[in-house]
Amino acid sequence: MSSIAFIGLGNMGAPMAQNLIKAGHALTVFDLVPATVRTLTEAGARAAGSAAEAVAGAEIVITMLPASKHVEGLYLGEDLLARIEPPTLVIDCSTIAPDSARKVGAAAQARGLDMVDAPVSGGTGGAVAGTLTFIVGGSDQALARARPVLEQMGRNIFHAGPSGAGQVAKICNNMLLGILMAGTSEALALGVANGLDPKVLSDIIAKSSGRNWATELYNPWPEVMPDTPASKGYAGGFGTDLMLKDLGLAAEAALSARAATPLGELARNLYALHSQGGSGGLDFSSIVRLYTQKPK
Ligand code: NAD
Repeated sequence: MSSIAFIGLGNMGAPMAQNLIKAGHALTVFDLVPATVRTLTEAGARAAGSAAEAVAGAEIVITMLPASKHVEGLYLGEDLLARIEPPTLVIDCSTIAPDSARKVGAAAQARGLDMVDAPVSGGTGGAVAGTLTFIVGGSDQALARARPVLEQMGRNIFHAGPSGAGQVAKICNNMLLGILMAGTSEALALGVANGLDPKVLSDIIAKSSGRNWATELYNPWPEVMPDTPASKGYAGGFGTDLMLKDLGLAAEAALSARAATPLGELARNLYALHSQGGSGGLDFSSIVRLYTQKPK
């Protein structure tokens, strides 16, 4: 059992923290939104009044925050790293820019702290079920220390390379996810516009060469699958604005490496239009609404 500080209790962080409580760890939690903290205290966690209070005496610090500015703002801007005493292990599971991860990782190392970037894949369903994939950047030693606790929240742990490499791999994955969700939406809307039933078409694609994560687990069309955000008014899940952020990170990575990502750029523009239309807070699978306003 370890004493763990968990900061950032949103759609992903809350169920991940719940799994650590179930595994027997002593959790101290903090989020800017009090309601999310209450859910965790009801499950047995101790509430901290600030991030600095949460990390006091913790053996492991885990953060699950929206974007680079939140992670840099907390660890460097608010100087949280200065409040964390070695040999505490620091694990950031947020999806952020590789450069931000390297910057915070270097600052942690300068303070004598082991730190890994460990962004996740698997969605809120994977977070609840404890089956996430962790894509880790950092030293062998830091990963060896992180592995036991990551295994209590996930099933697959990959070592992508040194600090920041986890974020690079995660960005590549999410660029593909953004493209395939838009493509799946486009194909389903085409079929429905030509008289097909979306469930029948989804079943066909799921067993044909167009199958993918969306048709198997996360169908964007309402009522095709029972437990998807699409069947719950696109509430919860992975926000359109978070997908837009990740596609922006992919575009930045492409620019800095002079790589060509034409489909990634097109997808980024589609999600940007969707967000501008007022859907930034909805699950990203609501991109299907760009193709037809019929799905509610
Ligand atoms: P979210 O917006 O639901 O949760 C983020 C939480 O961080 C919020 O509760 C917010 O109040 C809190 N927060 C922000 N700044 C804070 C601070 N300074 N101190 C304390 N709390 C703070 O986001 P999410 O869906 O849980 O995603 C978190 C990260 O995981 C993002 O980087 C996202 O890209 C990534 N991710 C999400 C999914 C998904 O399906 N939702 C899947 C894989 C990866």
